[in-house]
Amino acid sequence: MAFEGLTERIQNAIHSLQRKGKITENDVKESMREIRLALLEADVNYGVVKDFIKTVRERAVGAEVLESLTPAQQIVKIVNEELVKVMGEKTVPLNKSAKIPTVIMMVGLQGAGKTTTAGKLALKLKNEQKARPLMIAADVYRPAAVDQLKILGEQIDVPVFEMGTDVDPVEIVRQGMAKAQEQKNDYVLIDTAGRLQIDEKLMDELAQIKELTHPDEILLTVDAMTGQNAVEVAKGFNDQLDVTGVVLTKLDGDTRGGAALSIRAVTGKPIKFIGQGEKLTDLDVFYPDRMASRILGMGDMLTLIEKAQQDYDEQKAVELQEKMKANSFDFNDFLEQLAQVQKMGPMEDLIKMIPGMANNPALKNVQVDPRDIERTKAIVYSMTPEERENPDILNPSRRRRISAGCGVKIQDVNRMIKQFKQMRDMMGKVSNGDFSGMEGLFGN
Ligand code: GDP
Repeated sequence: MAFEGLTERIQNAIHSLQRKGKITENDVKESMREIRLALLEADVNYGVVKDFIKTVRERAVGAEVLESLTPAQQIVKIVNEELVKVMGEKTVPLNKSAKIPTVIMMVGLQGAGKTTTAGKLALKLKNEQKARPLMIAADVYRPAAVDQLKILGEQIDVPVFEMGTDVDPVEIVRQGMAKAQEQKNDYVLIDTAGRLQIDEKLMDELAQIKELTHPDEILLTVDAMTGQNAVEVAKGFNDQLDVTGVVLTKLDGDTRGGAALSIRAVTGKPIKFIGQGEKLTDLDVFYPDRMASRILGMGDMLTLIEKAQQDYDEQKAVELQEKMKANSFDFNDFLEQLAQVQKMGPMEDLIKMIPGMANNPALKNVQVDPRDIERTKAIVYSMTPEERENPDILNPSRRRRISAGCGVKIQDVNRMIKQFKQMRDMMGKVSNGDFSGMEGLFGN
């Protein structure tokens, strides 16, 4: 799994903050030290790490206090926002020429996944834009590269222009371009040669192809699994060819995250696509925000933070939290809470957003029927004001009266009250920073 080590270490750094009600400058310093180490170990470029930590630390110490978020959540929010920034913030789409064909030149070292990516991209264009691409086989050095592209072309039903391996690649491209003009292909993907490392002869050849075709896009393919090396390669190619974008491949492998996090900052060029497997459909548009949450491993918590900020009445949330802490949460609060939560979206989604809950097998098939919520409300409405404020006085005779009042079976009333009490206990715990034991709530 990609980023496992990095994710775990960042989570640990933040986890130690989660137990604190208030975060001191020292706490920030300590967790930044851990995040710094985590990033360096993940092979992120040193300069990138340094700037990143500096910015996060400054923002965290001077952070505006948002009442809807705990201090730990605020740090997560800042780290996340800065991760997104490092990776370029916005998705940069593929360039498209005003007149056909749009020329995409694929470059990269041998083995990075260039030929495979050419096939994947051609398929994507075909599927998503109904495009009619032509692929040109100009890698005459790597044994079987031409055959590989031909086979790919057959698999995805995209024509491949090739002249074997004995012709000068620049000439192949020239004739391939003429063919595309003639056939009115809207995209041309040129699979150029790679090497084991950057050398002058290769760069010369690529420069000639660039000169000849004026590509709209020079897409550099780099292997994410090579970490800092991928960043060096990207820098080398960009210095010589001024690439327009990067495809980061093999993100399905055991990568440490260094390449994803450094390339944009080091080269100034956007990652446009990521390869996530060997299948031809395993090419995805790169979204900095999604990648950041993947690296943090807290995607769902981030969504929750966002929702909490959007939908929550801050003052009420603070009051509720105080009550939860003091375990004085009652049925009136419960009704209010239900209303807030219902505003935020389907219950089962919300439950799964709580960190550590998403993969909980007990929650796999949780379905919250909106009618259950209505029934729960009906039970509460049948209580007297005194009962709502003091859930503990609900003895059997009161419960029978409530059951008759709202027309809900006594067993269901009992179950609801039991669950309410479990929830109250759990909320007390969670608001004091303890997430353990939550799964029990849904498991029975
Ligand atoms: P080229 O020399 O740069 O043209 O590299 P190839 O396209 O031949 O790819 C080299 C190897 O990497 C092949 O075995 C591909 O199947 C594999 N590969 C390419 N992209 C990915 C990817 O995103 N994930 C995985 N797991 N393998 C990939």
